Amino acid sequence: QDVLERIEEKESAVGAYVTRCEDCLDRAKAVDDARAAGKELHPLAGIPIGIKDNISTKGIRTTCSSKMLGNYVPPFDATVMQPVREAGMVITGKMNMDEFAMGSSTETSYFHTTHNPHNLECVPGGSSGGSAAAVAAGEAILTLGSDTGGSIRQPASLCGVVGLKPTYGSVSRYGLVAFASSLDQIGPFGKSVKDVALLQSLIQGHDNMDATSAYRTYTNLYDNLNGNVQGLRIGVPKEYFGEGIDAEVKTAVHAAIQLLEQNGATVKEISLPSTEYAINTYYIIASAEASSNLARFDGVKYGFRAENYDGLTDMYEKTRSEGFGDEVKRRIMLGTFVLSSGFYDAYYKKAKLVQRRIGQEFAAAFQDCDVILTPTAPSAAFKIGENIGDPLKMYYSDVCTVTVNIAGLPAVSVPCGKSASGLPLGMQLIGNKFAEQTILNAAYGYE
Ligand code: GLN
Repeated sequence: QDVLERIEEKESAVGAYVTRCEDCLDRAKAVDDARAAGKELHPLAGIPIGIKDNISTKGIRTTCSSKMLGNYVPPFDATVMQPVREAGMVITGKMNMDEFAMGSSTETSYFHTTHNPHNLECVPGGSSGGSAAAVAAGEAILTLGSDTGGSIRQPASLCGVVGLKPTYGSVSRYGLVAFASSLDQIGPFGKSVKDVALLQSLIQGHDNMDATSAYRTYTNLYDNLNGNVQGLRIGVPKEYFGEGIDAEVKTAVHAAIQLLEQNGATVKEISLPSTEYAINTYYIIASAEASSNLARFDGVKYGFRAENYDGLTDMYEKTRSEGFGDEVKRRIMLGTFVLSSGFYDAYYKKAKLVQRRIGQEFAAAFQDCDVILTPTAPSAAFKIGENIGDPLKMYYSDVCTVTVNIAGLPAVSVPCGKSASGLPLGMQLIGNKFAEQTILNAAYGYE
C-alpha cells in the first residue's frame, strides 16, 4: 500500500516504470493470508520488487524499452523470476531502461526519459535508470537490473542507492534479453547493503538453462554479512583517479578510503596500466556481440513488424529501420564493422587480447589486495539532454565500470557523499571472482 502511494505521488515526475502490475495488492494480500495461516515465509515475502524491462516475465510485457518489442508478452519466465516468485515477492512492474540496455542515461528508451528523483532535471544514469530511480524514490523496495558495462553500478551511484554487479556466471542469464552475452549479468538494487545481500542470495545459483552459469556452492551473503574491516587490504588504482574524473568525486572517494583506514583497513596504491584501453575494448566487444544478438529482431519471430513492405528483404529492412532507435543502430553498425573480414584482426582480435591483459592485471592485483576501491562514475548525475548528442562523451560515463565486466568480476556501488549541488556520489568496491561476500562486507562496514 505504502509503495503504491509513493508511485501515485512520484511516478508522473520520475517515470521509472514502463509497465505497472495491477495485481500488486492482491499478491500482497495473499502473503498476508499465508502469514495469518501460520505459514513459514521467506524474509522477502511480500516485499515489492521492480524488474528491469529486459528480463523476461511470463505474461507481463517485456519491451527492452524498444519499439521493436513494444507489444511482446513473453510466454516464459527468466530463471531469476522463479525464486523471486517462490519467495512471495510482489512484482510492482517493469522498469524503464536505455533501449536494449545501450546507454548511460535512460534517455534512449523508446517510451520516455526517467528523471533522477534527487533532481528531476538530471538523468538517473543507465541503462538500468528506472530500477535505480524507483528504489531512490521509494517506488519499489528492491529492483533487478542488468550490467554489461556499468548499467547497475553507474545508475546506483547517480541515484544514491546500492547496486551490485555479480561475478559473471553467478546469476543465470536465461531469459535476460542478450545485449553482449559474455559481459551481461543480472543484479540487485536496494537502499542498503543488507537489502542487496538478501536479494543477491535469492537469485544467485547454478542453472542448467544457462551454459555459462558457474557450477559451485553458493553461500548466503546476508547471513554472513559482517562489517568488520579490520585487516582488510584495499588497493587503490591510480588510473581511476586521473583526468576526466571530477574533483568532487575524487575528494568524496578519498574521504571514504580514509574512513575505512581509520576502522582498521590497510590501503595501498596499485597500478592497473591497461585501464586506458578499457573503453575502446568494451565498445568493440560489446558492439560485436550486440550485432549478432540483435539479428533475431527481424519482424518474423518477435514483436514489431513494419506495415508496408514489398517482399521478405524489404520487410526485414523496414522492420529494423523503424523498430530500432539511433543508438542501437549505431552499435549494430559498429559491431558488424569490427567483425568484418577486413577489420577483424585490427579491432575485434586486438580487443580480445587487451581483454586478457586486463584480466591478468586484476588477477595480479588480487594477489595482495582483498578489494579494489575506485569511483563508480566520473561525475554526479548530469542534466537530461547534456550528453545525448555526443556518444563518445556518453560512453565515457563507463570509464570506471567496464573493466569489471571485461574481467568478469563482481563489484558493488555504494553512496559516499554528495556533490556541491547536493547530488549523490558513489564509490565502487571490486572483488576477485566469486568474492561477493568480501565486497559486500567492506561496503557494509563503510555504510
Ligand atoms: N553504458 C554502457 C553501454 O552503453 C553499459 C550498458 C550496460 O551495462 N548495459 O553499453
